[in-house]
Amino acid sequence: MSIRYVFTSIQLHVQNVEYMFGIVGVPIIEVAMAAQAAGIKYVGMRNEQAACYAASAIGYLTGWPAVCLVVSGPGLIHALGGMANANMNCWPVIVIGGSSDRNQETTGAFQEFPQAVRSSIYGRPGASYIDIAGDMVNAKIDRANVRFVSCCPPAPVSQADSREITQAVRLLRAAQRPLIIIGKGAAYARAEKEVRELVEVTGIPFLPTPMGKGVLPDDHPNCVAAARSRSLLQADVIVLLGARLNWILHFGFPPRFSPHVKIIQVDLCAEELSNNVRAASALLGDIGAVVRQSLALRSTLPMNYYTAFHHISELLPKDCIIVSEGANTMDIGRTMLLNDLPRHRLDAGTFGTMGVGPGFAIAAGVLEQTQKSAQRVVCIEGDSAFGFSGMEVETMCRYKLPIIIIVINNNGIYSGVDPKTWKEMEKMGDMTTIAPPVTLLPEARYEQVMSAFGGRGYLVRTVEELRSSLQESLNNTQMPSLLNVLIDPASDRKQQEFPWLTRSNL
Ligand code: ADP
Ligand code: MG
Repeated sequence: MSIRYVFTSIQLHVQNVEYMFGIVGVPIIEVAMAAQAAGIKYVGMRNEQAACYAASAIGYLTGWPAVCLVVSGPGLIHALGGMANANMNCWPVIVIGGSSDRNQETTGAFQEFPQAVRSSIYGRPGASYIDIAGDMVNAKIDRANVRFVSCCPPAPVSQADSREITQAVRLLRAAQRPLIIIGKGAAYARAEKEVRELVEVTGIPFLPTPMGKGVLPDDHPNCVAAARSRSLLQADVIVLLGARLNWILHFGFPPRFSPHVKIIQVDLCAEELSNNVRAASALLGDIGAVVRQSLALRSTLPMNYYTAFHHISELLPKDCIIVSEGANTMDIGRTMLLNDLPRHRLDAGTFGTMGVGPGFAIAAGVLEQTQKSAQRVVCIEGDSAFGFSGMEVETMCRYKLPIIIIVINNNGIYSGVDPKTWKEMEKMGDMTTIAPPVTLLPEARYEQVMSAFGGRGYLVRTVEELRSSLQESLNNTQMPSLLNVLIDPASDRKQQEFPWLTRSNL
């Protein structure tokens, strides 16, 4: 193959461009041929507009731009529709057009290649255009003298201002009816892991935009797409992850949104922030990075049910037997701790009995031990529920049943008070007249009941402690363990779940 074809295609190849869509004609036929020869996949299309749509979709789906190759004049004009669409979608694409020879005009520098790749994916992604002069396509050069610019690095990832993150977390914690909107920016950002963690540790419902669908599955328990209008209207705080408040979201205006809604907006494009609705918190940065920043801040605060269950569910083996009792612990655990196998779930049952957990767990543990099966028994108890039969840990220790008890301890029945409030109440006088009937002793050391009999007891306050103690307990098949997980005593499913979106309200 002649040297003159190679230049364009190898430079594209060096930039890791893999796909080219287009319609050839003079002078860019050789460019397509050379691209193929360099290993780039070329798809000949019937109209440049469709070619540009295709190339931009590759940019969105793979995160790296593809090329749309067009001839000058009408070819480029047709491609404009695709370029405009890519720009509006914030999808990277590189359009290469052939033009007349350089002696007929004044443009055409090949150094534009790496810049084009970079400008299509850095900042807000979009279309970039390269114009190749006809005589350059067919110019003869010595291959040895060609210097290629090395592949442009992936777009740099930026984080938001930490003060803005603090403000956003504060807003979210105070929200009564929070909602997360997931847009195609979150899909392009490949932030599915972070977005899932945000949804699951906070328990906040989410609504995908049309192309935000699938970042989390549509059948996720927190997806409220079926209650779209109601969720938009009733939400008091909305986290906007890579979606614009444009016509798709009714501009963020009443009557579709509450006039008092507070928007926490995450976008990597500064110009987009506070567009149409002034953001209560504007987080400029990459969605994955910003969500990680927010989660890191949250995990220094006391855990709530959702945070604890999210991390427990990540570590539990799929075939374990889950025993569960309590009020919120059992209810929220039902949606967040999933089963794969029949007869692997034992809870308060038809009679709603509290105190059954340790007995059930001992039965499952004895079967495990006598049948030499490898499945683990995990007993997840509210602190009140644990109190009913807590002394059975002596039985577990006596028979060395490696049961894992996790006490989700919120200092009470349904909810409790923190140690400071409890101390103040004690100063006020007779606790039988002051202490709310739902309260139990704050931060009671249930793990010591287990260590008293020789099992492993863990006091758990943070996500890190929860994960490491649960992992250690799963590795220990010799003795039972008890994790006393202190959660926020004000953590209550009433604010965390979304009764404001349940069927009866629709
Ligand atoms: P939708 O159609 O789903 O509502 P939009 O196209 O309106 O989505 O909004 C997508 C937004 O995502 C754009 O404002 C874009 O700047 C932004 N975006 C794209 N990639 C990222 C990223 N990695 N991090 C943050 N924001 C991003
Ligand atoms: Mg949008």
